[in-house]
Amino acid sequence: MNNPLLQVHGLKKSYGQTEVLKGISFDLAKGETLSLIGPSGSGKSTCLRCLNYLERPTEGSILLESERIGQLPDKRGGFRFMSDKELAPQRTEIGMVFQLFYLWPHLNVRDNVALGPIRAGGMSKAEAYELADEMLDKVHLRHKATEYPERLSGGQQQRVAIARALAQRPKLMLFDEPTSALDPELVGEVLGVIRELAEEGRSMILVTHEIRFARDVADRVIFMDGGHIVEQGAAADVINRPQMERTRSFLGQVG
Ligand code: ADP
Ligand code: MG
Repeated sequence: MNNPLLQVHGLKKSYGQTEVLKGISFDLAKGETLSLIGPSGSGKSTCLRCLNYLERPTEGSILLESERIGQLPDKRGGFRFMSDKELAPQRTEIGMVFQLFYLWPHLNVRDNVALGPIRAGGMSKAEAYELADEMLDKVHLRHKATEYPERLSGGQQQRVAIARALAQRPKLMLFDEPTSALDPELVGEVLGVIRELAEEGRSMILVTHEIRFARDVADRVIFMDGGHIVEQGAAADVINRPQMERTRSFLGQVG
């Protein structure tokens, strides 16, 4: 891949004696949507959490626009882990949306979205509000700007969480099963927003059980099992014509 946005090489993660990521390597091109699929416990969330150093990998490297995430050169020609303070600017380059939305209950929608840019980005309140409104437009919730989270549906809350992540102006967006905590009738509105982000050429990695959505919206799919990448390729190829038996059996089970 020419000049990839993200390069992940040999990523491993152990918890105690248990290795849950066993050497994951992949690239993501700028503007590409990659979907990560696989059975529960295969390491998808751990992989995403390592990418922005919510978890510290045991081995491996992550480069975003050729800049090493989470590590700095040390005096011996190796690397040392960054402190939380050193990590903070890099974390804003990678936006993350989780299964649960974690909005601030005491802040209205606009303040929830503007808080990051004010706190971490050092933006003025006026600028941050303008940016927040722009991002709320993207998730079709500008009209809810002064509402409090508890007055919104789960789907609306998740869209606010997406707007909040976008307000950091990240180079890369990570979604970890963003619709799996939602009532079925609310899934579509969140997937619709993610589809629009993909279509406007954002760089994204999406963990999802919505296999048809992954096939239709992602450029590429990675199938993980047991901490390994079993298969990766163009979304339609992996999902319609899987090469590996493990992929076939997984796709057979999830429909
Ligand atoms: P997935 O998202 O694909 O369901 P996870 O990345 O959440 O998988 O988990 C992969 C494996 O790592 C699982 O066996 C899980 O129990 C284990 N695991 C995840 N987080 C921790 C943790 N903080 N401590 C110990 N084990 C963990
Ligand atoms: Mg998970």
